[in-house]
Amino acid sequence: MSSSPGAYVLVVHLPKPTTICVGSLGKMSLAEGNYLYCGSAQAGLLPRLARHMRADKKKHWHIDYLTCEGLVVGALTFLGSKETECRLAATVASVPGTEPIGNGFGSSDCGCPTHLFRVRKDVTLSIVLDVLRSTFADAGSNGQSI
Ligand SMILES: [Zn+2]
Repeated sequence: MSSSPGAYVLVVHLPKPTTICVGSLGKMSLAEGNYLYCGSAQAGLLPRLARHMRADKKKHWHIDYLTCEGLVVGALTFLGSKETECRLAATVASVPGTEPIGNGFGSSDCGCPTHLFRVRKDVTLSIVLDVLRSTFADAGSNGQSI
């Protein structure tokens, strides 16, 4: 994978129920499980994803509060821009077995309800990612797992 710009779906695992305090959004109580966060990085995907995987960082984005508590287990990356990030969020929302989390999480500068989703406990993560990848491939953008 190159360090080109693009959009991504970050997979974060929370091993236990956790309450996070997310800046302007306030307190959020999160159940254990797998979370999907849609973002984009126009300055390069690799540095951004590497940042998400570091536990010690200054909290800048909403997602930083989650990656400091949970474990980043992987990501799907896609070609595209900021607008692709929102299309990804809409696509994740449409995949059965996901539920939207937070109100305006990661989406304070766009019109989306949220860019964070939880994968339901009874749903296999890899199946959700497969659906996501193929749905997006059909839309003309490639998906790579890292
Ligand atoms: Zn959006």
